[in-house]
Amino acid sequence: MIKKVRPHPTQNEALLFETSSPGKAGYQLPELDVPAVDPAEALGAEHVREEIPDFPEVSEVDVIRHFTRLSTWNYAIDLGLYPLGSCTMKYNPRVNEAVARTEGLMWIHPYQPDALSQGAFAILADLEKALAEITGMDAVTLQPAAGAHGELTGILLVRAALEAQGNARKRVIVPDSAHGTNPASVRMAGYEVVNVASNDRGMLDVDALARMVDEDIAAIMITNPNTLGVFEEHIAEVARILHSKGALVYMDGANMNALAGISRPGDYGVDLMHLNLHKTFSTPHGGGGPGSGPVAVKKPIEPFLPLPRLQHAPSGWSWNYDRPQSMGRVRAFYGNFGVLVRALAYIMAHGGDGLKRATLDALLNANYLRKLLESHYEIAYHAPSMHECVFRHASTGAIAKRLIDYGFHPYTVSFPLIVHGAMMIEPTETESKQELDLFADALISIAQEVEENPEVVLAAPHSTRTTKVDEVAAARKPILKWRG
Ligand SMILES: *Cc1c(COP(=O)(O)O)cnc(C)c1O
Repeated sequence: MIKKVRPHPTQNEALLFETSSPGKAGYQLPELDVPAVDPAEALGAEHVREEIPDFPEVSEVDVIRHFTRLSTWNYAIDLGLYPLGSCTMKYNPRVNEAVARTEGLMWIHPYQPDALSQGAFAILADLEKALAEITGMDAVTLQPAAGAHGELTGILLVRAALEAQGNARKRVIVPDSAHGTNPASVRMAGYEVVNVASNDRGMLDVDALARMVDEDIAAIMITNPNTLGVFEEHIAEVARILHSKGALVYMDGANMNALAGISRPGDYGVDLMHLNLHKTFSTPHGGGGPGSGPVAVKKPIEPFLPLPRLQHAPSGWSWNYDRPQSMGRVRAFYGNFGVLVRALAYIMAHGGDGLKRATLDALLNANYLRKLLESHYEIAYHAPSMHECVFRHASTGAIAKRLIDYGFHPYTVSFPLIVHGAMMIEPTETESKQELDLFADALISIAQEVEENPEVVLAAPHSTRTTKVDEVAAARKPILKWRG
């Protein structure tokens, strides 16, 4: 008989608070060689606390093992396919990391004098130029720190540009196939959201749109390809309709990995757009780390771009703060520099041809998966797929959990909202045919399980340390504070 032993933490990790033991510390400081200061005297007793309640006291090795073990519980793009639709969870080449960790770039400080930052200026200028070329736009700000931040910046730019003409207008049109952050950004910028429905091919209904556009409409905010993975075929016509009433076209370009090198939004009437560098241009994301959502604009909007702007003189690069029409700053300093370095490294490593090939691979992979799965799952819209495909199934949540048992991260569940039971799959361009085949086999096998053994699917996952959790309780009664 096997004796039952207490599980080692590699099998079941406790909270750091629970491993705390009084007096342990992760550091050792040398003896003070300056006079000691009484904090209460220096800061005032009311600003100094006796102790930090529940502060875990642990050694360095405790901390290292705790977080290393937790990291092995996690699924990561470096382990396998991560088909989370709309998120572009693609593999990030290590060369970008190597470049971003170059000593002079890694330790650079925003308060460093301009004369000592000329290389960094050149990187920012080259990236602005590359992104303008890829999008077909005239000017780029690298400041916004995320996609949604780029959206807010973009809609505030719309406001600034229209205000300069005398009327900021009231409403922004957002299709029902837009990314969920779009209506939120519109509201935050002080506009009302007007919804426009998609047609049965998953595209914007142009006739419905034409009836909607009047002098109160400031802009349309259109995700292209939209969240159904469908290219908005009539986008040039959409732009014409909006422009005819003096309104602007904002494109959510977070899905540029479906367009880069093939189609430039600036060529079909888009006035301004954002990019997600941490998706298309390869920075690890998903863990809440820094991102970057540059906004690219056409010439008439350039004067309103956030402060400061790069400027070049014979003496070198510097920042220009003298821009009276600017909307002002949108964040501290000049953008998430490390992400910008990675993006430029990625673009230069690929070159124009390479970016185009990556785009074609993204489309090929999504369409290959679609073909493999079409006879096993119901496709949501019968329009050509771009970089992702959306199926529907009443058990989308359970199937997603069951995928974990097969070694894959789930796809995006129940989004976009206009597809009931959505299964939104974005394989990305970095996956091989072998990996896609494995993934399709897993989903096909699960489809069979749903028919033959539904209870296995409904109770999934079975292979993880934590099994099916009560999501309703987690949402309704969250425990936000550790109680010792
Ligand atoms: C990811 C995404 C966003 C939001 O980007 P964040 O960096 O997460 O703020 C916006 N729109 C689309 C289409 C996206 O895919």
